[in-house]
Amino acid sequence: MSGIDPPFAQPIRKTTLPYGQQWLDEEDIAAVVEVLRGDFITQGPTIQAFESKVAEYVGAKYAVAFTNGTAALHGACFAAEIGPGDEVITTPNTFLASSNCVLYQGGIPVFADIDMDTYNIDPVQVEQKITDKTKAIIAVDFSGQPVEIDRLSMISRDNNLVLIQDAAHSLGATYKEIKVGAWADMTMFSFHPVKHITTGEGGIIVTNSEYYFHRLQMFRSHGMTKEPDKMIKNDGPWYYEMQELGCNYRMTDMQAALGVSQMGKLDSFVNRRREIAERYNRELAGIQGLILPYQQEESNSSWHLYVTRWLPEVLKGTRREWFDALRQLNIGVHVHYIPVYTQPYYQKLGYESGLCPNAETYYNTAITLPLYPKMSDQDVTDVIRSVRWVVSEFSK
Ligand SMILES: *Cc1c(COP(=O)(O)O)cnc(C)c1O
Repeated sequence: MSGIDPPFAQPIRKTTLPYGQQWLDEEDIAAVVEVLRGDFITQGPTIQAFESKVAEYVGAKYAVAFTNGTAALHGACFAAEIGPGDEVITTPNTFLASSNCVLYQGGIPVFADIDMDTYNIDPVQVEQKITDKTKAIIAVDFSGQPVEIDRLSMISRDNNLVLIQDAAHSLGATYKEIKVGAWADMTMFSFHPVKHITTGEGGIIVTNSEYYFHRLQMFRSHGMTKEPDKMIKNDGPWYYEMQELGCNYRMTDMQAALGVSQMGKLDSFVNRRREIAERYNRELAGIQGLILPYQQEESNSSWHLYVTRWLPEVLKGTRREWFDALRQLNIGVHVHYIPVYTQPYYQKLGYESGLCPNAETYYNTAITLPLYPKMSDQDVTDVIRSVRWVVSEFSK
């Protein structure tokens, strides 16, 4: 039973509206072309220009750019000296990368359940998962709403843990008026095309710690240094020294040039995202069976995702049917996220279903609506009309 009768099953629009997409203009393209015409297409000066821009924007001292956000998280785990047997507490309601980075270092991801209002990691659950093997917390600002950074910082300090913030969703967001990136020991941003700004693939770690800064730089480039004052020995001007096992995770100057250009547009992108979210909040309010995203007073989200929950107690049918109905109308809805530990790879490692009941309940009822700055007002109207229509079709 699809619940959709023929005249209404027609798409509400000609093309499918994706859930997220980049916004590039001629200025961005020209910035990349300029680098292509220059001397350095990688390991040139544009990387540092991009790093400085991001660090300055978020209010952090240092930044190290990486090939992508996942590599950046790997770098953060290396910098934090996560090793075999070390436990790292993270959320199940995230993309795979937030916990895979722990596995890369031989560490053990420990999943703490989420808060059912914000869908962010619950600080109380975090405290309960701390053991004498816990080394770090990787907190994810789900959908763009920052985690409770003050509480998590306090927990980290009291237990001697490194606090890593996966802020792939929250570039431009603030918590208690402070920008995300200025607070945790290390904060990661991703520049994948669905995120706030893009470099194609790309990621960055920002930090206020000189120690982490140097470790991140070494890790990004084979664990080697060319700085004479950091070398153990020195054979001559040609000499480079490998002191740690690193990777080649360097961003190119072409990507960095795109990043610099996109950074100039970040505030307008975030404002547009907030505008669209406000329209959803206003025009979808009060619909029976539909839960809109709750926002804490302390946080000002940068709205990477607009997630809704659809209540089976109130609506007929299943999430799959509501989802399919929206897709049939050409609204490119999505679902974020499958609890990481329910993935076959994690199950093989011994994680069991049922571990984080809130994350599982959330996942089973969640639908993400399209949200990106390039959406037109008409696109937003299409989404609102479609959601209203599907809910009314399935209301009991
Ligand atoms: C996008 C994303 C990442 C990984 O970033 P990539 O640049 O795609 O490697 C990590 N964590 C979260 C929560 C993300 O959304």
